[in-house]
Amino acid sequence: MKKMLLATLLGANLFAFNTVNGASNNSYQMKGKVVKAYTQSGFGRRGVEWLFMDVKTNKGIEKVGIAPTFIISNLPIKEGDIVEVLHAYAKERGDFIDLVLGKYGRIIINPEGVEIRINRKFIADVEDGETVEIRGAVVKILSDTLFLYLCPNCKKRVVEIDGVYNCPVCGDVEPDEILRLNFIVDDGTGTMLCRAYDRRVEKLLKMNREELKNLTMEMVEDEILGEEFVLYGNVREENDELIMIVRRVSYVDVEKEIKILEEMG
Ligand SMILES: [Zn+2]
Repeated sequence: MKKMLLATLLGANLFAFNTVNGASNNSYQMKGKVVKAYTQSGFGRRGVEWLFMDVKTNKGIEKVGIAPTFIISNLPIKEGDIVEVLHAYAKERGDFIDLVLGKYGRIIINPEGVEIRINRKFIADVEDGETVEIRGAVVKILSDTLFLYLCPNCKKRVVEIDGVYNCPVCGDVEPDEILRLNFIVDDGTGTMLCRAYDRRVEKLLKMNREELKNLTMEMVEDEILGEEFVLYGNVREENDELIMIVRRVSYVDVEKEIKILEEMG
């Protein structure tokens, strides 16, 4: 894995002007996995835009402000990277930490020998109430439609007659449109019923919402049956069966999978 010293990459002097008064901790360290890298405006005296990362550490998700975008326009940190922050000045600002690297601080991206354990399991070992990651192939589609039209008041399914949507309780309504897919995943140890909503369905089928409206369920099956995914979500029991409510869909990264399988023994 490539090792990169961000401070070296950018030149430590770049941070020098960004002095922190009364830094609460001048030797801040953290280690974790980047779940999101993004910019957000409205920070600092002039409401400047900042680069942020949300890092999953053993203390939970930490939101880290790194630098204003007028200093670094493009940060070589992406979702899934492991980052290690060393010798930084840290200043608490409400619910996030403003991180200043200064002269000795470093952000190391993908350091060797650091791996954050995700709760990856074989389907046969997954239990009720767990939040886990599984990897498997889609073997069956259970939904008979991708889009559900629900009454905005009582959440019952509405019936469409000539372009007018009618709720059995509330009468004619403008329905909420929900994109939903129920499917079965098999990883060789067992099968898991999975339910995905909205952008997760778009990611599974590699199409946007509008494109999905042109698909018949046969076309959905052609797209997805046999395809392998890494799915992360909450598992609970529903009608005597475990079901995963999918929170994140990832495509299979073979190199990563080899490492995970080695760790799982
Ligand atoms: Zn209703």
